[in-house]
Amino acid sequence: MRFLQFLHRARQEFEKKWNNKIETDVQWSDFDVKRTLGTGSFGRVMLARYKPTKSKKFYAIKVLDKKQIIKQKQVPHLLNEKKILECVQFPFLVRQSFAFKDNSYCYIGLEFVAGGEMFHHLQEAKKFDEPQTRFYASQVLLAFEYMHYMDLIYRDLKPENLLIDHKGYVKVTDFGFCKRVTGRAWTMCGTPAYLAPEIILSKGYSKAVDWWSYGVLCYEMAAGHPPFMAKKHMDMYEKIVQGDYQCPDHFSKELRDLVTNLLQVDVTRRFGALRRGVQDIKNHMFFAPVDYIATYQKKLKAPLVPEVKGEGDDGNFEKYDEDPLPMDKKCLYEEEFKDF
Ligand code: AMP
Repeated sequence: MRFLQFLHRARQEFEKKWNNKIETDVQWSDFDVKRTLGTGSFGRVMLARYKPTKSKKFYAIKVLDKKQIIKQKQVPHLLNEKKILECVQFPFLVRQSFAFKDNSYCYIGLEFVAGGEMFHHLQEAKKFDEPQTRFYASQVLLAFEYMHYMDLIYRDLKPENLLIDHKGYVKVTDFGFCKRVTGRAWTMCGTPAYLAPEIILSKGYSKAVDWWSYGVLCYEMAAGHPPFMAKKHMDMYEKIVQGDYQCPDHFSKELRDLVTNLLQVDVTRRFGALRRGVQDIKNHMFFAPVDYIATYQKKLKAPLVPEVKGEGDDGNFEKYDEDPLPMDKKCLYEEEFKDF
């Protein structure tokens, strides 16, 4: 009940922000750029320190190349991403601090999450044990409950998009495919191994696609690999639409049952999308040990606390080649990006 009241208030806050345009007064030259933290199809995320104030805080700045965004027809996704990031406020979602643009790029300034990608920690550990899987899964569960309550579909869950903060808690990042919808969505987007069958089959789809990908994530964290694998995407899609996967022998009966109820090809049988919504998952026996309030308040000891030696420590991120960011003399695509 307490959480429902919280969600109700959070929704009012969200609506207020949604209906206002938020402007920030910063520019690229205000930052000392340290290095690239990660790359995406339209640009890169850079660790940078804000110079003008004494605190000299670090941010992860997503630098998006206007030409690439136009070429790949991603303007609506970018506008969604910025708008949604401005409005969300939840402990397990990355926070946006500012956004601005110049002649060649759009910039989204995010809080710097120092522990690196879950993907990297999962690769090192090979797989997580079930308490660790449950720890992360319970946070993603609350994050999805919050997002869905705000009418947001996330659409790109995967370990690469889950960052670990300095306390060892999850932060969902990359809202490039996130969309505010009350009805159905139709766009084919996401990451192949995490796509729900109804997306592959080009049916209109709903928030239930997030619960499918959530099932894939729970499986992958505990198994060390995703449930549907094949060399060719078409073969993988065939397995997904058939629901053709097997749980490893070491999965407990609770985890096996949870995954089975999430990886339901038939949406009308999928946990999260039934009459009781998210409660079917929150009250599932796999989550019986979880105290959701203590989780939300980050009062529990994390199973893995990343090594972070002070502000701006980038030791948990892979190294990337540092290409220069060429700047055009003229402002590109002014009209197309006017709402950014
Ligand atoms: P994205 O394009 O949003 O998927 O970001 C690409 C990569 O940049 C991510 O997988 C992370 O490695 C890194 N990254 C994104 N956001 C942050 C952040 N807020 N703090 C630290 N690293 C980040």
